[in-house]
Amino acid sequence: MCDRLLAEGHKVAGVDNFCTGSAQNLAHLTEHEHFEFYEQDVTQRFSLPDKFDAVLHMASPASPKDYLELPIETLDVGSAGTRNMLEIAGQNDAKFLLTSTSEAYGDPHVHPQVETYWGNVNPVGTRSCYDESKRFAEALTMAYHRKRGIKTSIARIFNTYGPRMKLNDGRVVPAFLDQALRGEPITVFGDGSQTRSFCYVSDLVDGLYRLMQADEPYPVNLGNPNEMTIRDFAETIVDLLQSASRIVYEPLPEDDPQQRQPDITKARQLLGWEPKVNLREGLERTIAYFRSNQSVTV
Ligand code: UDP
Repeated sequence: MCDRLLAEGHKVAGVDNFCTGSAQNLAHLTEHEHFEFYEQDVTQRFSLPDKFDAVLHMASPASPKDYLELPIETLDVGSAGTRNMLEIAGQNDAKFLLTSTSEAYGDPHVHPQVETYWGNVNPVGTRSCYDESKRFAEALTMAYHRKRGIKTSIARIFNTYGPRMKLNDGRVVPAFLDQALRGEPITVFGDGSQTRSFCYVSDLVDGLYRLMQADEPYPVNLGNPNEMTIRDFAETIVDLLQSASRIVYEPLPEDDPQQRQPDITKARQLLGWEPKVNLREGLERTIAYFRSNQSVTV
């Protein structure tokens, strides 16, 4: 996101406490004349010397492995963190963009998921720290929009992958690629019949960039509608890498959604946006990154 904003000629201030991210992903920007960085936990009140036209609140653990290890931090960043960032947007009369999630739909009964669907979320399950944090963040964003007149937008991001993910972050794309590259067994959870739809990172960033400039307060799905089962995905990876890995089956995590596919009609109409990078191309770029960065396992 920072790279795209800088490429479009904007000045950017990045804020992160690296509780799940890596400073290495920003190393190439350290000397950039239009980039500032503040190592800061956004759940704490803070102020920055700069003036802003837009505030993009993207901070949160996002991998199930990470948010299960950091449930309280995850709830804090969706609640206190969102509030702090909304305050900064208000002080600057800036546009506010919240990155929410397809997890707001929980284990959905409506398929594909449309923005008007309210979801099927377990409020006390192990994933609830993430789902409810993001749902609260959406509610808070709408309250600031209605009550304080802040220009806000909400992106509901579906599964996204690409270079700069951590190899060991637990999500299915890095997990399967790492296992296949090492020739280790590919761990499919459950029977692998659950579905996901994978969007390449540059497509997602393009959708966020367009939404940042749009005048739409209600949620907009951003993701790739190309749905597949996790079992098919495992086979695709084995084929692509000509890997010797075999597929093994492990228990399905609690409340793991059975199906997930974005309906992107709204994004198409509102933003003139749709994904361009197909799965094979996106995976090849991701594999090239992992091959040259196999030591990056923060
Ligand atoms: N998954 C899997 N093996 C793994 C990691 C994940 O089968 O090593 C499955 C997981 O159970 C889920 C899907 O892949 O059904 C996507 O999981 P991920 O953690 O990437 O994100 P989620 O979509 O659940 O937020």
